[in-house]
Amino acid sequence: GTLTVGNLLTVAARRFHGRTMLRCVTTGRSFTFGEANTRVNRLANGLSSLGVRKGDCVAFLCNNRAELVETYFALAKLGAVGMPINYRLSTSEIADLLQLSEAGTLIFAPRFAAAVEGLHTGADGSDGHERSGLRCIAIGEEVPGFAQGYEELLEGSSPEEPGTVVTEEDPQYFNLTSGTTGSPKTYLLNHYNNALAGTLMAGQFDLTGTDVVLTVFPMFGRVGFGWTLAAVYSGLPNVIMDFEPRAVAAAIQDEKCTIVNLVPTMAQMLMGLDDIEARDLSSLRGIVYAGAPLPTPVHEATVRQLCPHVYEYYGMQETGVVVDIKPEEKRTHPTSVGRVSPFCEVRAVDPEGNDVPAGENGAIIVQAPTSTTGYYRNPEKSRETFRDGWIHTGDIGRFDEDGFLYITGRAKDVIVTGGQNVFATEVEDLLLRHPGVADCSVIGLADEFWGERVTAVVVAAPEAEVTEEALIEYCRQSLAGFKTPKAVLFRTDPIPRTPTGKVTKYSLLEEYAPS
Ligand code: ATP
Ligand code: MG
Repeated sequence: GTLTVGNLLTVAARRFHGRTMLRCVTTGRSFTFGEANTRVNRLANGLSSLGVRKGDCVAFLCNNRAELVETYFALAKLGAVGMPINYRLSTSEIADLLQLSEAGTLIFAPRFAAAVEGLHTGADGSDGHERSGLRCIAIGEEVPGFAQGYEELLEGSSPEEPGTVVTEEDPQYFNLTSGTTGSPKTYLLNHYNNALAGTLMAGQFDLTGTDVVLTVFPMFGRVGFGWTLAAVYSGLPNVIMDFEPRAVAAAIQDEKCTIVNLVPTMAQMLMGLDDIEARDLSSLRGIVYAGAPLPTPVHEATVRQLCPHVYEYYGMQETGVVVDIKPEEKRTHPTSVGRVSPFCEVRAVDPEGNDVPAGENGAIIVQAPTSTTGYYRNPEKSRETFRDGWIHTGDIGRFDEDGFLYITGRAKDVIVTGGQNVFATEVEDLLLRHPGVADCSVIGLADEFWGERVTAVVVAAPEAEVTEEALIEYCRQSLAGFKTPKAVLFRTDPIPRTPTGKVTKYSLLEEYAPS
């Protein structure tokens, strides 16, 4: 057999036939491996009868629910390429992605019917004839007029394996970066990239026969599906839902989930619930962090309030996991993201490309068998990131003598003030410990004298009486003078973030220092 995404499910369905594969909190539906595989085969055969062929692109616009997982595997078995669409995008951004990927079919959940109708009429009410060739399939209730029903398609189709020959190198899936530093970049992943990523994750996060994997990451991204692949490979139930803190706390308790991947912001929202103390979260044996720097106060609160066993990993959407750390080592190296993952290479280099000594910061460059080879139809951006056989992450970090990696920050976010480098995370970590600070982000604003001046953007805690002077004085007590913010800007609006909770500093810079 081959390491393809479709094969992962076909084999798991044979091995784990009667075990639960999916529990969908969103819809209340639950499927065993056997049932899910049959539904996937029916969908694949149904799509095939509509004319979807190997190599064709099929887009999907769907929140976290079982049908999204079915669609993912059905396309994989057909050798069709999936184009997951972030449902927070505008109609015209969706139209752009459909055009870029040349998707001929769109599978969508009912709550996005209006957006899909917008595609047909054109976002601005014009006739949108370019999109009129798009074949639309509605999950759940049928949407009269223009869409084929999903369940109807399944019912009318054969449950046999579709039998398309799919290789490891065949493109499987379009993915997008998070858009933290600007417009998201689109790229292709092949079957091998994703099937291997899921397989490796099972070991990296110690999945065993008693685990119940909870997915709350939006599943238009690679991370969400990675956990599904890991659970399928391991024959474990995957509980899937959209992230809503109260519902997530309830699901952990009711479904007895054992492991969940969060970004720090999600954890903060969970721990901020007024009834979190009353929830029984004792089924959790691990919380996995990734995707953004883990502030020390959030790490410590996690250990106290959610689960004492913390995993973390580092990587980009483009690469998958390249560095990871397990709870025992996270306890002794709390600020490290871990050691280099299996089959990966990670280096910290100077501007000439030479390795910097242990303890010194360098540009992080990586190689991984789970990574893409370039951005889709974007040679310029590809040349920037994919150079000399290495992926240039844009992150700065250092290794210690034992090979543990510490991420210092993004090169783009380094604040250069009076010729000295300030890494925002250090200042942010400190500010977040102040009881008067609910949230913050530290940026560099242009300054004639300093080059850039360290500026803290702060959302004050409710009812806290905290002043600019007090926060600056508080920072001065623990930080070198050049790192201490020269100004604190209070705001009542939330700090802008991507859907997975990463601060979009470029939008803060635009707001506070319009060009
Ligand atoms: P874009 O590339 O579109 O600007 P993005 O870089 O945020 O967005 P992702 O690929 O989702 O898109 O995120 C990867 C980045 O997230 C890394 O380059 C790094 O800056 C950050 N990151 C990931 N994991 C960690 C971690 N454990 N600790 C600190 N930072 C992390
Ligand atoms: Mg990036």
